[in-house]
Amino acid sequence: MNPILAVGSVAFDSIKTPFGEANRVVGGAATYFALAASFFTEVRIVAVVGEDFGANTQKVFAGRNIDLTGLETVPGETFRWKGEYGFDLNSRETIYTHLNVFEQFKPKIPASHRSSPFVFLGNIHPTLQADVLDQVEKPRLVAADTMNYWIERTPEDLQRVLRRVDVLLINDSEARELAGETNLVKAARKVQAMGPKTLVIKRGEHGVLMTRPSGGFFSAPAMPLEEVFDPTGAGDTFAGGFLGYLASCENRDDASLARAIIYGSTLASFAVEDFSVDRLLRVTKDEIDARFQEFKKLTHFDAI
Ligand code: AMP
Repeated sequence: MNPILAVGSVAFDSIKTPFGEANRVVGGAATYFALAASFFTEVRIVAVVGEDFGANTQKVFAGRNIDLTGLETVPGETFRWKGEYGFDLNSRETIYTHLNVFEQFKPKIPASHRSSPFVFLGNIHPTLQADVLDQVEKPRLVAADTMNYWIERTPEDLQRVLRRVDVLLINDSEARELAGETNLVKAARKVQAMGPKTLVIKRGEHGVLMTRPSGGFFSAPAMPLEEVFDPTGAGDTFAGGFLGYLASCENRDDASLARAIIYGSTLASFAVEDFSVDRLLRVTKDEIDARFQEFKKLTHFDAI
């Protein structure tokens, strides 16, 4: 098994959707990522929380294949974020972002984690992402997330780190903005030229589009669900399922990458079925594998 080093936020979120509200619940990109990826391999979290996070560490991470050596607890308050969703759940407004202890966050990779073969750089300042890469020894695969904030404000720092990234996972508007190109196919080619040979473009309820290192694209829909309560963390959960599967299967050919996309989509489809990480805490490996098979039925058709 290939352990994954995952750097990103561990947070308290407040969320409002048309179906209800949740206040000060556990969230954060690294949290969603780790819960999803830990179904496939060991995840080594590098993040920071405040002393107020308390028993949540045990409640959320204990008993899973998650190593917490790199999760620092420091005096002060945990990172807090509030988001509010519109009626169709596709539009989201950030009500506030309180960095709190995250403001001084300088990822320190424990010595025991420096040779991690897989690295996931969550959505943090690109110079911090580069800092993490400077502390690890020749990982076999580096995956990263970013967002419009860094694309607009720190473009040179972002370009420098992209040269060192194998797989970039971003949403469609971020891909267009990063490339300065409205056509998604052309945008994908431009982003590939910046470094990441595999680009995974997340399109919310419309699914995912991935460039194949061998050329061409692979595309998958999102699972049509009757119950969608809270889309928060769907992207990070997708990344966890995707990278977790890749780390566990030792292969990076087209067929493995396609299966990784379906595992990512499967995990994300569970995450949105309840608020916060609640559904991810309840889901079983059998349920995951059963839904993976449903995806096959959803997309299969016979040639004429
Ligand atoms: P997603 O829905 O995939 O965009 O992920 C939402 C998660 O990211 C929430 O749990 C938030 O706590 C976390 N988050 C939101 N904004 C930021 C930020 N600026 N930096 C780090 N994490 C964030």
